[in-house]
Amino acid sequence: MSLLSVSSPTLVPHQRLCDTAIYARLSRDRQRLSENVNIQIAECQAFADEQGWPVVGVFPDDDVSASKFSKKPRDQYELMLAAVRRGEINIILITEMPRLYRRMEELLDVIRLAETTKLRLLITTDGISYDLSTAEGIHAAINAVNNAMLESARTSKRIKRKQAVRAKQGKVHGGGRPYGYEADGLTIRESEAEVIREAAERFIIGESCRDLVCDFNARGIRTATGKLWRIENLQRTLLKKRYIGVREYDGQEYPAEWPAILTREQWEQMEARRLSRSHGWPKGKTGTRKYLLSGGLIYCGRCGGEMVGNGRTAESGRSAVLRYRCRRTDNHGNTIGCGKTFRIAAPVELLVKEAVLTAFDDPKIAVLLAPKGDEDQIRELVKTYEARKAKVDQLVTDYATGVLTREQFILAKQVAEAAIQEIRELLAQAQQQTALAQVPANQSIREAWDTAGLAWRQKIVGLVVEKVVIVPGGRPGSKTWRGFRFDPEFVRIEWKA
Ligand SMILES: [Zn+2]
Repeated sequence: MSLLSVSSPTLVPHQRLCDTAIYARLSRDRQRLSENVNIQIAECQAFADEQGWPVVGVFPDDDVSASKFSKKPRDQYELMLAAVRRGEINIILITEMPRLYRRMEELLDVIRLAETTKLRLLITTDGISYDLSTAEGIHAAINAVNNAMLESARTSKRIKRKQAVRAKQGKVHGGGRPYGYEADGLTIRESEAEVIREAAERFIIGESCRDLVCDFNARGIRTATGKLWRIENLQRTLLKKRYIGVREYDGQEYPAEWPAILTREQWEQMEARRLSRSHGWPKGKTGTRKYLLSGGLIYCGRCGGEMVGNGRTAESGRSAVLRYRCRRTDNHGNTIGCGKTFRIAAPVELLVKEAVLTAFDDPKIAVLLAPKGDEDQIRELVKTYEARKAKVDQLVTDYATGVLTREQFILAKQVAEAAIQEIRELLAQAQQQTALAQVPANQSIREAWDTAGLAWRQKIVGLVVEKVVIVPGGRPGSKTWRGFRFDPEFVRIEWKA
């Protein structure tokens, strides 16, 4: 039995050590009772009076105004801990566990404090007490906080589940008016549906998207938002599964509640044509550009000029190779660089790729990518993250030096790691909010990298890299790196921020 009943005084050790601190907290969690701090304090005071415990301090905190991400410092909580450290407090009295702890690491602080101070009990006014001098009591306290954390995680999952249910019922996604339908997303707008059908039919028999777009724009046909059609725009529109009456969610297809405009057969014919890369589908930037760093990311370390992708064609005894080179003159014959620096593209790109992906593994990156205005919140999150990581290290030290027992250590470590994971998820969420990153759901940037197009990769590199400088020197062939004759020492990556 891990819980001690407060009403049974024989189970409270050291009866005379009853100096009690009342902690109250106005939390953001509005479903709970006794929201008002004064009510909480009164409840605790009555409870203490009943037990005949002297209340030596009352500590009310208000974190209602704290934002979603930031963990506003709990001033009164800190004052209370200071009193605990001074040996003034034996019992912390609260109305319920989540009042005291939203974060496991805070509980761990107190568990450690209990070992070196006169603090002994955490007690809630509903009569549950946690004896911090026993492994059972510690275990029970950890469980209680764990449960509170789980509950709050469930609440956010509930919202996701709702979205999934809507998708499975084929309900509209929301967002702007889809071309071919009214704003409700359900009613066909016949004039536009006719355009979709015409475009599909003409494309299937071999007309190019470019021709279609020219024709449509000339005939005064406009997009759903009243703009001129662009090639990519038409291509994307035509292949939307919405037009064959399919609601997509998380990679799954569900029958939509709106009527189709095209048949699945038409969709498949268009898709086949797109995949065969026949003329008409624009290759786009991804298909034509071969160089990750072209377009303002790579510079000559000798003259400072921008370098360009420059393939060397196969010649006798030499195979073709992609490389970057410093341009000496521009297309008009003006001198713009030294023209002396060359570097093979593949190892440079590999080096940059790995450095960038490693950078994205670092939670600090989230600050850089934060939407304008959210930077402070993200910075707070990162701080918390690092504090929690430090805490795990501290736990290891505490265990090694005998401050924690093995059981306490294992429990505490699990819990601290869960807390780290929690922050990781918040950071990942924040990161996904950046429109620029455009990482598919459930994928890390690292995972997305291999399947994404070059344009996306360039964008990702551009998010964190100011420029890559090719430093002159390093005799080719003198050093091998990843199977290339290449010396990474002579590439300098300059990071943003
Ligand atoms: Zn140069």
